This record gives sequence, structure tokens and C-alpha cells, in this order.
Amino acid sequence: MKILIALVSVSAVGLIGCGNNFEAQIQKSVTLNKEASSLLEWEVADENPERLFEKWRSQSRKQADTREMKTQICTSLMQLEDQALSIFENELRAGKNELLLSSCKDDLLKRLDTYFAEQNKVAPTNNFTFSGNTQKRDVSKGYTAYTGDVGHKEVVLTFDDGPSGVYTPKVLAALKQVQAKAVFFATGKSARNNPNLLREVAADGHSIGSHSTTHACLGSNNRCKNQNGRMLTYAEAVAEIKSGHQSVYDVLGWVSPFFRFPYGESDPSLRQFLKDNATADFRWNIDSEDWRAGTNAQLVAKVMTQVRAKGKGIILMHDIQRRTAESLPMLLSELYHGGYSIVLLQSANPADRYNSSLVKKRLP
Ligand SMILES: [Zn+2]
Repeated sequence: MKILIALVSVSAVGLIGCGNNFEAQIQKSVTLNKEASSLLEWEVADENPERLFEKWRSQSRKQADTREMKTQICTSLMQLEDQALSIFENELRAGKNELLLSSCKDDLLKRLDTYFAEQNKVAPTNNFTFSGNTQKRDVSKGYTAYTGDVGHKEVVLTFDDGPSGVYTPKVLAALKQVQAKAVFFATGKSARNNPNLLREVAADGHSIGSHSTTHACLGSNNRCKNQNGRMLTYAEAVAEIKSGHQSVYDVLGWVSPFFRFPYGESDPSLRQFLKDNATADFRWNIDSEDWRAGTNAQLVAKVMTQVRAKGKGIILMHDIQRRTAESLPMLLSELYHGGYSIVLLQSANPADRYNSSLVKKRLP
């Protein structure tokens, strides 16, 4: 009996030791961020910082003494280079991780501030303004925006997943400084969490479409299977689209008739659904991959290389990414000095944004 107990406790210790190799888990995350073939692969992976912290929070709730765990997480994060550390920033800032990170959070965030400030020493002073370039598209029978059908040397800036209380104000300030207008795709969740910020985006004259409620993968292929191996049904996907659109409408009293599928994962029946509801399927042809670690200059170079090669198009960025907020002035400068014009896309009928058949109007 004693032997059995001894064996059980040894294997239990072994298991905990194995699962708690925080340094290895963090390193795996850094590697995956470099090697993931898509944002979807990165976001749904067990090694994604959001998933990792979710797991660690749940482990810590089951443990009586979490001191060792906290020390190990902090030590492992502190060992990272600044650039690798930057992929954990949103988790460092998240209130729900406060308990796990209390001993190192401030130091790590300070390090990231220094890291970005260093890069901003070469940031341009943008003392120019773009000429207004608003273009209208008829979305009454649906519309698919791959390149936005814009002309040579014209680009559309798009920002997904926000608003973010930390980074969206910086994005707005950079755009305002040069009078550039963009299209924002808010998730229902972010819109409800940051209604005042969404109103600021609106007040600055940008178009605001929606991007699902919870950023779920809506397509009907294996890539969209969740951890339990199932994907959303058509009805669930439609509910995600409608509720996200509704959230933006509830905050603003309007929503641009534009929708962007999370991860660009869609399905013929859902695209037909958008068409039937006079809502544009808004894609992109230039991906900033701003979720990957890299310097601001690398991000701008990646975008500008594609812009020059294609000559025009729709640029995908995320206003929940610090790197995007920090590098935007540089990107705007390169676009301006490269002779590019920034297009604000709107629907042809100005009434469309008040009359979406995807939303239920609030009673006055
Ligand atoms: Zn997204």
C-alpha cells in the first residue's frame, strides 16, 4: 500500500513538473509566433499567449500555494528578448493576469515602453496631410472588396479587432494628424467593452463595420474546428455576424454595411447571407501580419513591399496591436512620400448605415 502511494505521488509530482515547465511553454510560443502559417494557426494554438495564460490562471486557481508558479512565469518572461516579450504585452496588461504577474508586470511593461521608444527615435514628424479621397460602392446587392476596386496608387487602410483602450487612441491620433481616413472592423465584444472609444472612431469620420461578436472562426472547413473538434453551425455563424453588427449599431446608432470575416475564413452560404442583407464582404490583399514579433521598421517594410508590388489595395492591420499603433506614423509617411492616396470607402447610399437588415432598431 505504501509503495502504491509512493508511486502515485511520484507520478503526480512528475506530471505537475512537466506541465509547469513555463520557460519551455513560453519558448514554444515565441517559436510559433515566428513560424505560424497564418493568424488563425497562431491564435488558436495552445501556445498562444492568451491560451497559455488562460491555462495558467486555471492551474493557479487549483493550487493552494502559487508562489513558485508566479516566480517561474515571471523569471521566464524576464529572460526573453524585448522583441519576443512584445508578443506577451496584451496578456501583461490584462487585469485578469494581475495576480500571476504582480511581481514583474510593471518592470516588463517598462521594458517594452523603452523598447518602443527606442524605435520611435527614428519616427518621422508627419507635417503633411493627405487630400481627402472618399469613394462610394453600391452594396445593395452585396459587394466583395478584395482590393476595394481602387485605382493605381490608391490604398484603403483597415483596422480590425478593436477598439482597444490602449492602442486605438494612438491609431486615431496618427490618422488625424495627416487627415487619413480608414475603415475599422470592430468585434461586438470590443465595441461593448469600449463604447466611448468607438464613438471617437466615429467622430473622426472613419467607416466602421463589424467583425463578428467574439472573433470566432465562421467558415465551414477543418481550419475552423474548435478545441472540441467542432465548427459553428450556419445558425451560430449567422448569430455571430448579426450580434457583432448589432453591438456596433447599439453604440453608434449606425454601422457601415461592411463585414469582415475573422481570419478571412468564410463559406458560400455565409457570403450569400451577407449579399441578401446588402452587406459588403470586406477582404484584403495586403497583410501587415502585425501580430508577429518584429520591429516597427520591419512591419512598415513588409507592408510597403506589398503595396509597391501590387500598386494598390486594402491593407489589413489590427488596432489591438501595439506594433501597428507605434509604426503607423512611419507607414503613413512612406505612403505619402511614395505618392499614394488613402481612400475612405463608404456605401453609395448614405442611409445604408442606419438601415441594416442585420440589426434590430432600438425603440426610441
Ligand atoms: Zn480579426
